Amino acid sequence: MTPQHVPHVQPVVRQGDPHIDAQGWFTHASRRPSPNFEARPGDAVPTLIVVHNISLPPDDFTTDAIADFFLNKLDHDAHPYFDHLRGMRVSAHFVIRRDGAIQQFVSCDERAWHAGVSSFCGRERCNDFSIGIELEGSDRMPFEDAQYAALSALVRIIVKRYPIDAVAGHSDIAPGRKTDPGPHFDWQRMRHDSALPPSFFPFQPSI
Ligand SMILES: [Zn+2]
Repeated sequence: MTPQHVPHVQPVVRQGDPHIDAQGWFTHASRRPSPNFEARPGDAVPTLIVVHNISLPPDDFTTDAIADFFLNKLDHDAHPYFDHLRGMRVSAHFVIRRDGAIQQFVSCDERAWHAGVSSFCGRERCNDFSIGIELEGSDRMPFEDAQYAALSALVRIIVKRYPIDAVAGHSDIAPGRKTDPGPHFDWQRMRHDSALPPSFFPFQPSI
């Protein structure tokens, strides 16, 4: 790797037990602060975790394009698929890569732009009250063991800090518009590994 290709990643701070720090950042994630966020409105606090999948280009897990996209640094000429992403400003709080590495783009205290038009149990604008976690992946193939392990560990830590009472897929809160995390995401496994009660999964009545 030549010096000019070293990504601008702040070092992971591994001090003490993994936790969300006073500013809403996970101590064991690589921090890549995105400008794509705003304050949560009024007294909104995170009560919902939204699980997504994303890969850029689709099904390609070898690039750093997700981070570039969330940082408004995507080279839109680098791949035909990137063309329609021009001008889009989006983000998620977290991305879990295929090897289980966790990246954080927005403080959990802030409103990231991951859900779009959405509704959870009659409450609109899910970005106001949710934390978005993107799994690097697609609707067409299974996720990695390391991703389930990282997701469950991260969710347990988030739940310790914020009054989360539900976990949903993007497809649950934007049906007809979004399909992620897709048919390969194993909700039973996530529930088991995260040790959350079934009541946290209102869209998964069988678990
Ligand atoms: Zn999504």
